[in-house]
Amino acid sequence: MRKKEKVSVITLGCSKNTVDSERLMNQLKLNNCKLTDNPEDADTVIINTCGFIEDAKKESINTILNAVSLKESGSINRVIVAGCLSERYSSDLSKEIPEVDVFFGTENYEGIIKELGGELKYELLGERVLSTPSHTAYLKISEGCDHPCSFCAIPLMRGKHKSIPIENLVKEAEFLARNNTKELVIIGQDTTDYGKDIYSKQNIAELLNELSKINGIEWIRLMYAYPSHFPDDLIRVIRDNPKVVPYIDIPLQHVSDDVLKSMRRGISSRRTKSLIKKLRNEIPELVLRTTFIVGYPAETENHFEELCDFIQDFKFDRVGVFTFSVEENTTSFLLGDPVSKKQKEFRKQKLMEIQQEISLEKNKGMIGKQLKLLVESIEGDYYVARSYRDAPEVDGEVLIPRGKQKLKLGNFYMGSIYDCNEFDLFANLECK
Ligand code: SF4
Repeated sequence: MRKKEKVSVITLGCSKNTVDSERLMNQLKLNNCKLTDNPEDADTVIINTCGFIEDAKKESINTILNAVSLKESGSINRVIVAGCLSERYSSDLSKEIPEVDVFFGTENYEGIIKELGGELKYELLGERVLSTPSHTAYLKISEGCDHPCSFCAIPLMRGKHKSIPIENLVKEAEFLARNNTKELVIIGQDTTDYGKDIYSKQNIAELLNELSKINGIEWIRLMYAYPSHFPDDLIRVIRDNPKVVPYIDIPLQHVSDDVLKSMRRGISSRRTKSLIKKLRNEIPELVLRTTFIVGYPAETENHFEELCDFIQDFKFDRVGVFTFSVEENTTSFLLGDPVSKKQKEFRKQKLMEIQQEISLEKNKGMIGKQLKLLVESIEGDYYVARSYRDAPEVDGEVLIPRGKQKLKLGNFYMGSIYDCNEFDLFANLECK
């Protein structure tokens, strides 16, 4: 290995890829590499790709082609491609883009480090170079998925569900806490499935309790829960453990029985609704984030209206909407793509408009309330913060007028909400 190989790691896709890149970057540093954020300044560019849906695949391929043109211009020596797109299409990609030096699949840290002439430090795989602000970090508790959702290609790229043992995750979280992390954002493909493979039971509740014992960790936030088998002990932990914030991200994808059945989600409309009611009844101040897919082949106008009514009636706090993307080798591939692009965009827009009104109503309900705020950055005349109601990167923010006050980024402050819009809240800090 040339002394101090300069390496730029480009991460695309989801927070799970972010964690993979952070682990890889730490291993590169341990193997005497110098990390750079500027690909043009690197000897080697590593692209951790996403292969989830059409748009993501296009972005990954464009990023690869940009790196290849840097190599052809002589400003870099090597292009390494890894991650989901590579896991799924490496044989096609190596034919179409032969300028790439080597393709690796997902989580192949050893292969990449060896390619750079180094040696993987297994015992330090839980240590990471964070790409998020140090006060908040994703904790990936499992990889892969056992669900047969008809539209989803993730199991094709990430394989079957694999949980990471509690002791490894506690060690990783302790490393993060030593590095000033205060918020752990719990991620996986299905976090409610945690432990079933290594502990023969869903063990997410115990994991969250163990993580909450770590000094310095103040917020634990659960993302990517699955609706069909939500554990009761998890409800109790979210309700009773003060460090586990009353916030659940639970992608539902749809609500019509016909569509849920065709999507192979393993849950009915009735059970979906009763779960949401139960979560709200049992967890005070609960904030619910969910995502829906519109334009799925089996979705008729009536099914879509049913979804609009559901969102209107159940009033989620946060909603993301995706348009259906045809994915080969998934079971929905055989259904084709009968809903036009124009119709998909129309349905997405309509759902977002419904949600915007709901979000404004909910934000108005926060005026006059006190919230614990994690101050993260400065934008113009405001400090930008988040409350327990806001997951990083996907939800709203709380804006605090800067005035003359000097706040420490990454610290918590108590704020009083005095205004809002449909996305964000405005707060003044409580006088000490
Ligand atoms: S739960 Fe379904 S949608 Fe989510 S990763 Fe697994 S197969 Fe894909």
